[in-house]
Amino acid sequence: MSLPPLSSTFYPRAFLLVLVVSLVTLGGVCLMGCGQEEQLESSSRVYSEPFPQFDPPPNILFLSIDTQRADHLGCYGYARDTSPNIDHFAAESVRYTQAYAPTPWTLPSHVAMFCGRHPYKLGINDINAAIPLTAPVMTTYLKAAGYQTAAFVDSKPKGMVGARRGFDRGFDVYKHAPHQASVQSPFVYEMAATVEVAQHWLMQRDVNKPFFLFLHTKSVHGVAEGQGNDPRRFPYDKPEPYRSRYLTVDQAKFIWGGPGEPGAEPYLRYLNKQFAHGTLDPATYSAQRVEALKALYDGGIRYMDQYFGVLMKFLDETGLSQDTIVIVTADHGEGFLEHQFFHHIEVYKQLLHVPLIIRLPRDRMGKVIELPVEIGDIMPTILGFAGLEAPDSIDAIRLPLDSSINRPKRQIFGCYQFGDRGFYDAFSLLEGDWKLLFHKYPKNKTWQADLFNVSSDMDELTPITSKSDRTKAMLKSITMWQGLSSTTQSAISLDPETLNHLRNLGYID
Ligand SMILES: [Zn+2]
Repeated sequence: MSLPPLSSTFYPRAFLLVLVVSLVTLGGVCLMGCGQEEQLESSSRVYSEPFPQFDPPPNILFLSIDTQRADHLGCYGYARDTSPNIDHFAAESVRYTQAYAPTPWTLPSHVAMFCGRHPYKLGINDINAAIPLTAPVMTTYLKAAGYQTAAFVDSKPKGMVGARRGFDRGFDVYKHAPHQASVQSPFVYEMAATVEVAQHWLMQRDVNKPFFLFLHTKSVHGVAEGQGNDPRRFPYDKPEPYRSRYLTVDQAKFIWGGPGEPGAEPYLRYLNKQFAHGTLDPATYSAQRVEALKALYDGGIRYMDQYFGVLMKFLDETGLSQDTIVIVTADHGEGFLEHQFFHHIEVYKQLLHVPLIIRLPRDRMGKVIELPVEIGDIMPTILGFAGLEAPDSIDAIRLPLDSSINRPKRQIFGCYQFGDRGFYDAFSLLEGDWKLLFHKYPKNKTWQADLFNVSSDMDELTPITSKSDRTKAMLKSITMWQGLSSTTQSAISLDPETLNHLRNLGYID
């Protein structure tokens, strides 16, 4: 069932693609270099860079691993053996060391990936937001170009990556929660089932057309159900042997939902509420429990990785590896109380730094790209693989695919905006070696600016408290960027059951 071979080579200089990009597209504002402000007459930049050309158009498999921190994968330097299959895959791929999500939550980060626009500018800032009808969705361009398109996502129709929010545009098939249909298991978010249905679809597709297959898995995400006193339910809950793989004997004895603990409420949500309301001090939370939570989270990664390996083996055995570009990324990371919360709420590195790995069919040399990029850049890159130009309206830039490519310094904006129902409000700006957070914790009730030198303080643990010209300049950039926000343009109504589910996922109070 293999497809005809593709020609996949970087174009020689004579065929360099002139890529017109909007470098920052902040309404004409661009800061270039460490805090020095520079007004640009135009936000557009022209790059001449090689970009691979495919004839015929390639298959594209795009996997979004919900909640996957970059630094908990072996190929990003993690000490535990959480990801042997992804590590092997990364060694044959283009790996981005500085890929960032625009937000620490699922909906807007996926909007960025599908629309190539910063979700803040699309008004994706509340729990009921949907992709505006006017926003470009990459799948519609792929379908119009002759791709057959399918998605299997760990989400309900009104969930974060739900069809009802507009993510199904351009898809022939958009299936939710495949685990519920195919695997009888007490565990939810089954990568095993996602891979199983993906394989089934691949086997019965039309082999005369290229495909775009989007997979979204929550195998790494914390559970939405309360643990109560049921020792079989953990805050991150995967089948054995993965659940216990990294727990020490002492940690394995840990009983979630003990006296004074949340009972039926999800553990991480319960803790975050206590931290937010000041009834529990994050500094006093047991370090042993933090390590136990990390061990459980890592077990979920190992579980996900196992089935990622199954999927890659399937591509090899069916010959599809020769014709298929595989893209692996995440929508955000996960916090383990490095700052004030668990789960994914804040805009520190632990939440916004994500893996991004792209394997091209005929270039398996393995490359590392250290330029800062955004996951929104995936949209024009996928269109580029299909031989399509991205619409002018997007903010994103095609990803560099060769280590020799250099580009001017770029600003990366992040935010956590959640209507008036969230725990926390935050904006961030990463610019070279510096990152500024402008944020407000509920117990403080005032906005504060924290500057970090991320070259010496990579985990953003020690803010530079003295006010500097750099702080002022970066704050000004954030203020100008805030002016580009949009009110929610498109929204869905949420029924009580969906609201409760999203609440249990930890998003709202
Ligand atoms: Zn997510």
